[in-house]
Amino acid sequence: MYLSAMDIQGFKTFAQKTTLVFPGTKAGSNAVTVVVGPNGSGKSNIADAIRWCLGEQSMKLLRGKAAQDVIFSGSDGRGRSGFAEVSLTFDNADRTLDVSFAEVVVTRRLYRDGESEYLLNGQAVRLSDIQLLLAEAGVGQRSYSVIGQGMIDHVLSATPEERKAFFDDATGVRGLQMKRHHALLTLQKSAENLADVEMVLHELEPRLSLLRRQVKRLNDREAVASELNVLAAAYYGTMWWNGIDERLAIETRQKSALAIVVAKRTELAARDAELVAFEKAQIPSSSADTDSMQSLQLEYKKAQQSLADARRAHFTFERELELAKVKSQSTWAPLPLPDIIAEVKDVAVVHESLLIRLKAVTSLADLAPIIIDLDGISVRSKKLRDRLTRPNPEDFVQSAESIAAIANALTVVKSAEDLVKRSEEMMDAKAKASVAATSEVFAVQKDVRRLQQELSGLEAQANTVAIDYARVETRIEGLKKEIEDAVSERAELIMNVAPADRIVDIGPTHDRILRLRHQLELIGGIDASVMKEFAEADERSTFLTTQVSDLRSAIASTEKVIDELDEQIRAQSDVALKKIATEFQKYFAILFGGGRCSLVKLTKEELEAAAPSDSPINGGEASEFVHHANVDTLESIAKRVQERKDSVVGIDIQATPPGKRLKALNLLSGGERALTSIALVSAIMATNPAPFVVLDEVDAALDEANTVRFANIINELRTLTQFIVITHNRATMEKADVLYGVTMGDDGVSKLLSVKLEDYVGDETARR
Ligand code: ATP
Ligand code: MG
Repeated sequence: MYLSAMDIQGFKTFAQKTTLVFPGTKAGSNAVTVVVGPNGSGKSNIADAIRWCLGEQSMKLLRGKAAQDVIFSGSDGRGRSGFAEVSLTFDNADRTLDVSFAEVVVTRRLYRDGESEYLLNGQAVRLSDIQLLLAEAGVGQRSYSVIGQGMIDHVLSATPEERKAFFDDATGVRGLQMKRHHALLTLQKSAENLADVEMVLHELEPRLSLLRRQVKRLNDREAVASELNVLAAAYYGTMWWNGIDERLAIETRQKSALAIVVAKRTELAARDAELVAFEKAQIPSSSADTDSMQSLQLEYKKAQQSLADARRAHFTFERELELAKVKSQSTWAPLPLPDIIAEVKDVAVVHESLLIRLKAVTSLADLAPIIIDLDGISVRSKKLRDRLTRPNPEDFVQSAESIAAIANALTVVKSAEDLVKRSEEMMDAKAKASVAATSEVFAVQKDVRRLQQELSGLEAQANTVAIDYARVETRIEGLKKEIEDAVSERAELIMNVAPADRIVDIGPTHDRILRLRHQLELIGGIDASVMKEFAEADERSTFLTTQVSDLRSAIASTEKVIDELDEQIRAQSDVALKKIATEFQKYFAILFGGGRCSLVKLTKEELEAAAPSDSPINGGEASEFVHHANVDTLESIAKRVQERKDSVVGIDIQATPPGKRLKALNLLSGGERALTSIALVSAIMATNPAPFVVLDEVDAALDEANTVRFANIINELRTLTQFIVITHNRATMEKADVLYGVTMGDDGVSKLLSVKLEDYVGDETARR
């Protein structure tokens, strides 16, 4: 590959489009192009144009301040240009440039409004694309490809770090360095992203664990609720159907008791009729006797009737009492927990205030209102206690009216019984006294009485069964309400379909139901949207966690890539630097006629300490970075990334001309500096030849003898590199294959005169 042409337009003094053609080879080696011309004619502007087109960003190196300074600024005779454009045409027949074109044209264009563009064969590309392409072919804009006027000893006055960049180009690792740079940027970006994602994940964590706890409570609640549902169904099913069965049994008992009563009544009525008939037929007596006996019997019947009435009344009261007992139990329900807590708190507060008041008592008169309040609070406490424990049927407190009513009814029954007894005795006495009385009548009368006694016993039994029935009815009624309250929508099913199995241990089941209800109350209500929110947060957390692990593996693989590049760079630059050091010594000896020089590689630590070490190039070791896969905290990643940034090592130059002892470069004379620099640049060219080199008056400070040596070195190196040399020296001019003359007229615009020497002097003459 070689530079075959350059087109300049609007760049500095080249206002009009100017084309420089560079020949490829001449007599088997690369052609040397020499540019000559008077001071200020624009020769250096040609070197600037090449540097600029290769992507130079430093305006200092381009001898300007603002970017637009490179655009032709106009002169007395000519207006300024709107843009500057430089194209470099490379012959790429050997495909040194890694593209499929035989000719590659790199163009840089800049408009006055600041808009700029880079083109590769007319296609817009990024600067970095061009830089990478050229760097891989050994053309580096920062290195010795273009050595500007007065810049040959720049490498001597540069800092070790700047020199390192120069040597990166010289050792051909620039392309690798750029790859490394891009990998490092990727690494930094990934590390930043990782920090961001981990922070988001960290921020999400408290909310997520709160939601997780709530979801667990929700699940617990569901477990409790479902156990409660099952138990409640079993419990109420058993209770309900036990009640139904009991009622059925009582119904049967009641029916048979009533049947027995009815039979007994029929029997009594028959016996009664028999007695009446007997009395009418068989005991004729005085009308007074008859009257008195009949009236006695009438009395007796009345007494019997009032006894039955009294018993019925007593039964009614007893029944009411029983129902009241059942009701008192079934209507009991534990207070809701919050109410209990509130009431307990309230009672405690009142107690507290009463205690305070008690302590403040000074006279007996103060005590009276306190005692009243104490009574009040003890009533409240008792009420609270009562509401906490299910009432026992035995503990049922009969009301005073009910006690009085039942006692009263019993007294009435007793007096009715007395009346019946007295009436019987009177009738007995009358019968005994009656002469007409026969033992037969007496026997029937006795039998009637026996039947009447039996009947009233049976009626009492039937009453008891009726009370039992009423009791079970009331209980079933209460249960129905309780079931509807407890299991609402399933109540119907429970009350219509008998359960397959009934539970035996009713009491413990009921206790468990109460405990489960209590648990539900404690858990409290949970918003169902928690589930959705948790799912979302969980999904986000999983996503972020995956991202974290992706980023971590991306970081690890990028670090590996950088490690590999570092190793490649280190190996390649070590080999190249050793060769350069050897060649440097050779050219130094040629130019100075002896003397010693060396390159010293500085480690990172040495640079930080600003104390150059004496380790020569073949002994020095570049700093290395070890990737510790185990230590993978954010901090360690950030630290490693940071350390990679600082991985620059510097290069120091030592030069001692023959017969001298000095080592410090700034003690060299101007000419010595130029010679040392030329020796170094020549060494680099010999070791790692760039496709082309532009030298702008690098020989300016040399004496005549050294100019000849310099020209000879160029003549030697042209086998490796294409030279474009700007010079005022004859010896150098004599090596030219093509000579361009640059002139400038009054219009401030550079003009080019091309002189192909062989055209009129012949190759050999030109060489000399
Ligand atoms: P020497 O032999 O002294 O090194 P030279 O031929 O290398 O001279 P250059 O440095 O190439 O000269 O040209 C410098 C000239 O270019 C200066 O006169 C300067 O005014 C002119 N110049 C620089 N930039 C611009 C610009 N943007 N527009 C017009 N003229 C410019
Ligand atoms: Mg110049």
